[in-house]
Amino acid sequence: MIFFRPSYFRAIKQAVSGLKDQVESNLLEKFVDFLQTPDERLIYHANPRMVANHLSADERTTLRLLVLAVYHGILTLHWDVQCPACSGVDQQFIGLGDLRSQHTCPLCGHIHPTNVDTEVRVAFSIDERVRRLSISADDSDFRSRIDQRYGIVSGHALLTLQTFRDLFPKEGIPPRESLIIRQVTILFTDLAGSTELYARQGDTQAYSLVNQHFQMLFQVVDQQGGAIIKTIGDAIMAAFTNPLNAVKAALSMQQQMTTLNQQLTAPEVLTLKVGLDIGACVCVNLNSQMDYFGMTVNRAARVQSLSQGEDIVLTDALWMETQELLSGYAQIQEEIDLKGIDHPVVIHWIAVGSPLRNSRSLISHQLSQ
Ligand SMILES: [Zn+2]
Repeated sequence: MIFFRPSYFRAIKQAVSGLKDQVESNLLEKFVDFLQTPDERLIYHANPRMVANHLSADERTTLRLLVLAVYHGILTLHWDVQCPACSGVDQQFIGLGDLRSQHTCPLCGHIHPTNVDTEVRVAFSIDERVRRLSISADDSDFRSRIDQRYGIVSGHALLTLQTFRDLFPKEGIPPRESLIIRQVTILFTDLAGSTELYARQGDTQAYSLVNQHFQMLFQVVDQQGGAIIKTIGDAIMAAFTNPLNAVKAALSMQQQMTTLNQQLTAPEVLTLKVGLDIGACVCVNLNSQMDYFGMTVNRAARVQSLSQGEDIVLTDALWMETQELLSGYAQIQEEIDLKGIDHPVVIHWIAVGSPLRNSRSLISHQLSQ
């Protein structure tokens, strides 16, 4: 018996071969098999979690692979919007730039804010240049069963995937539009004493140290599934969908900063300040870059300024979400007034590595300045 392979077999193999330098070969083989599936419904508006299950890979590895495949023209990315009233899924959005602050459901007419972490989910289809699907690939009952079984991957999860931000820097929200994120954890860092470092060590030597610290921060944020939103001088702002990952990243940054300081031959010690908050924010496009605004961002920045090195500082809201993770660390809790915020906020100082250097009186002294 002669077995005729469909013509797309070759096209898929060839298209995927472009990923071989960036993706592990075993995973790539499984990906080729998956894209060659006889069940076309699996590769039309595919749920990334279902794909992860097929590839026996974790969600983050799978998302990276899918985003790389979009970049190489193998897949198409969709920003599907689910209506909170009728649960119908609107599939018309190809780019993030097609989304608007308000969404009108084409099925029931309901108008609702386009919350990028609750109503927007990402899905992937095979690009029609690689494999053309028949009309039967579009089966909404099938997709809704898949979503129920695996859960969805929100639009915000993709916005906080570093690979996505690196490969699609131009992918953004249209001017004058903003998307709401109901819950995000924002992390700010700053490097204290870098001015003195430049003065004493000279530009080249000081920059090399500052750069080492940046590379470490970028790596930690990526490892914990977050994304760098921007750098401002010696500071970074990062966003995480998972609050536990954000706090793990903060702890890891301080631990690695200690190691970095131990490696320095110079008498200088770099002091990293880290602060975090959790809550809602709006996502907008500013200077062709996706940026986050709102009270959560303001509070996280303020809280960061209270950090004194070898500690992480967080709001009570975030502490409530992560207290189990932090139970082994020495901490100080205090209700304080933050500049520009109209009511007192409970803040937690968590000591990382060594016992808290700061006593209450020291903190009060710093706050009164
Ligand atoms: Zn609806």
